[in-house]
Amino acid sequence: MEYIDMRSDTVTLPVPEMMSAILDAKLGDDVYGDDVTVNDLESKAAAKMGKEAALLVPTGTMGNLIAVMAHTTPGQEVILEENCHIYLYEVGGIARVAAVQAKTLRGVNGLPTINDIESSIRQENIHFPETGLICIENTHNMAGGIAIPPSKIKEIYDLSRAKGLPLHLDGARVFNAANYLNIDVADITCYVDSVMFCLSKGLSAPVGSILAGTKEFIGRARKYRKMLGGGMRQAGIIAAAGIVALDKMTDRLEEDHSNAMLLAIEMNKLQGVSVELDKIHTNIVNIDFYETGYDINQLVSKMKEKGLLVNPRNERAIRFVTHIGVKRKDILKAVEITGDIIA
Ligand SMILES: *Cc1c(COP(=O)(O)O)cnc(C)c1O
Repeated sequence: MEYIDMRSDTVTLPVPEMMSAILDAKLGDDVYGDDVTVNDLESKAAAKMGKEAALLVPTGTMGNLIAVMAHTTPGQEVILEENCHIYLYEVGGIARVAAVQAKTLRGVNGLPTINDIESSIRQENIHFPETGLICIENTHNMAGGIAIPPSKIKEIYDLSRAKGLPLHLDGARVFNAANYLNIDVADITCYVDSVMFCLSKGLSAPVGSILAGTKEFIGRARKYRKMLGGGMRQAGIIAAAGIVALDKMTDRLEEDHSNAMLLAIEMNKLQGVSVELDKIHTNIVNIDFYETGYDINQLVSKMKEKGLLVNPRNERAIRFVTHIGVKRKDILKAVEITGDIIA
């Protein structure tokens, strides 16, 4: 069966231009700094992020973990929003590997209030761990792809400056945020000390993420990458596709966003189905099926039988993600399939 796959934007396949770039890539041993394609990607990525330096990492998870390791010392505390990816979906790596403890805060639309962040920064006291880092996420995955505007990030940045704390952005989908806000991505990343973003996902590269920050920070990050086993040899194979991702794939995210909005509007018309339309910013659509009376897992299996792949978000909602592999006609088909099932 031909499936419409809306489980995630991680299912995107490399575009033909990436495949030819991979074939033509000039390669070398990147651990020796000899892979010119990796070096090209890293300087392009640093420039786009408005940072001094950047580092290619195999995954976003490794990029975030390296960032936490490079910003903190073991035993410190990291401030995070309670539904963020680093805390929920990275296997507790910051506890196990970076040896820091998480201080989680409840956010509204993915962001804790500035007052909550400020009051969770530890005072000096013989009993307390030291706060070592603040992390934020943009767009926020669990909040449904919400884009956080730079004005909000600046508030946190100003606080972090005043307290002498670094601020890390999990920007797996920061290009989606910039696209929605209609600003340059550097207008977001100028208010953080480091940023991780994914070349895979919406940008369609097969493998790879980028960590960016100061030269000094990336120097330390490079060593942690080696420690974690992420020092890859002829990594230009990956970087070649990453360069195409950066050069050619960021502007088209708009199409994913308008498809997401179309999906949200059409699904919202179905009996018992509800979507908070004002929360649809980018390519993630959380749809509530509670009023249909359906068990969510059962609904997801029925959708699969009819050729639509999605993942449950929780016991009442399903997450749909748009990406380059989902066209407008697929959106309409997904709505039709859903309508047929719940009718
Ligand atoms: C996907 C994702 C990551 C991790 O990326 P992987 O490459 O899958 O390890 C980190 N943060 C957020 C918000 C993500 O959506």
